[in-house]
Amino acid sequence: MTAPDGELRPTLTTEAGAPVADNQNTETAGSGGPALLQDQQLFEKLAHFNRERIPERVVHARGAGAYGTFTVTADVTRYTRARFLSAVGKRTETFLRFSTVAGNLGSADAVRDPRGFAVKFYTEEGNYDLVGNNTPVFFIKDAIKFPDFIHTQKRDPYTGSTEPDNVWDFWGLSPEATHQVTWLFGDRGIPASYRHLNGYGSHTYQWVNEAGEQFWVKYHFKTDQGILNLTPAEAAELAGEDPDSHQRDLREAIERGEFPSWTVQVQVMPAADAAGYRFNPFDLTKVWPHADYPPIEIGRLELNRNPDNVFAEVEQSVFSPAHFVPGIGPSPDKMLQGRLFAYADAHRYRVGINADQLPVNRPHATEARTNHRDGRLYDGRHGRVKNYEPNSSGGPVQSGRPLWAATAVAGATGTHPAPAHPEDDDFVQAGDLYRLLAEDEKQRLIENLAAAIAGVSADREDIVERAVENFRRADADYGHRLATAVRELREQR
Ligand code: NDP
Repeated sequence: MTAPDGELRPTLTTEAGAPVADNQNTETAGSGGPALLQDQQLFEKLAHFNRERIPERVVHARGAGAYGTFTVTADVTRYTRARFLSAVGKRTETFLRFSTVAGNLGSADAVRDPRGFAVKFYTEEGNYDLVGNNTPVFFIKDAIKFPDFIHTQKRDPYTGSTEPDNVWDFWGLSPEATHQVTWLFGDRGIPASYRHLNGYGSHTYQWVNEAGEQFWVKYHFKTDQGILNLTPAEAAELAGEDPDSHQRDLREAIERGEFPSWTVQVQVMPAADAAGYRFNPFDLTKVWPHADYPPIEIGRLELNRNPDNVFAEVEQSVFSPAHFVPGIGPSPDKMLQGRLFAYADAHRYRVGINADQLPVNRPHATEARTNHRDGRLYDGRHGRVKNYEPNSSGGPVQSGRPLWAATAVAGATGTHPAPAHPEDDDFVQAGDLYRLLAEDEKQRLIENLAAAIAGVSADREDIVERAVENFRRADADYGHRLATAVRELREQR
């Protein structure tokens, strides 16, 4: 068609592909009369617009993503038979989604919150999703507490706002959170951008080599851009001025050809060490100190391509910690075990049962050969192929080889309380983190925590006391300084 400016342009059509005659005026009965039901363009346009949103993620709703390449830099075949890790120099396409945790879809990027760091490796043996964070630990160690924890981070049922009383009540009554809370209120609690933070697999995972030997591993993605953080004042200003600051920074850096990268490391623990280790190695509130299991460099992850369509490729991207490939598997970590169910379940609800076959989610170098069929928005990709097994029609058959080894570990099963490991309390590593900080960083941590705790209601001194006591148990100096700072702030109110 020739546009009003004389340019030759494609013709606007309906969803059914027919030409649209008028996209400016509703069709009416006579000039200026009421709209006609036969105006298909009007109704299709309004109806489609009403359905543009899908449910946002309950957690990690706010995010940005980019495609990239993972390159192996060390031989790890003695630890895992995962083929994408099988040779130095081997490259695998990836997609990485960064996010904040607590905020809604339209919330600001520059806030104090952990960052999601979810990596999808499109390997030749299927997609491997490593759904991590920018912190090596978490607030809780058992998935059964997760909905309660998140309810304290979200809006109160009565006030409709986030409430310091709820946040600190929960943390005060959950001493295992002390380590992660120390991390969160330190300088790294507000990263300057998605490029300037580390990623951590956080959970302990299992690697299995060709001979069937089992190892426990933790992943670390160390930023090659360096760690850069915002002060609370800088963050407040940026969040107000440019709520999309992290998303914009990532996109623009890639557009400029400044491809952000991360050096990938693993800590490897022989399976036999687990039961006798000084910490429960499957406790998500604990790290493995580097002195015990030194990180080994294994690869480099570079992000080098922006998605073309944020809704299709970021909002509809789905990650599941249950997406393993041969040679990699789960551990008895109770948070991980819960997430193995919860992530895929969330996406079945949010995006639909065929979510794994959307372009951003589907495997690249292999095809999904299941007997699953149909469901909303099924694309008919299987054609006439039979959808049952066993069959005598040449259908796909099972491999017969488990992806990983059995996960029952002496001393790691059972319910509460956790099995005894000599140094397994909730405070020692929070204290270790506090003690490694420089004096000025300690001071900022105390100020950040005190400002947050001081927001608890005046008649809930019990909440304040319990919260401060946890930090006192992590380190006497830490607790004393925090108690003093909180008291001073509350007296000024
Ligand atoms: P190490 O001294 O061997 O390592 C310290 C680790 O702390 C480094 O990975 C460093 O990361 C990181 N770190 C430094 N400053 C901060 C900060 N302000 N906030 C968060 N992390 C920081 O010590 P250990 O391995 O014995 O661990 C001691 C404490 O360090 C732990 O209790 C834990 O809180 C923290 N930590 C430990 C990690 C681990 O996997 N062992 C990983 C991250 C933190 P970087 O090199 O990027 O500066």
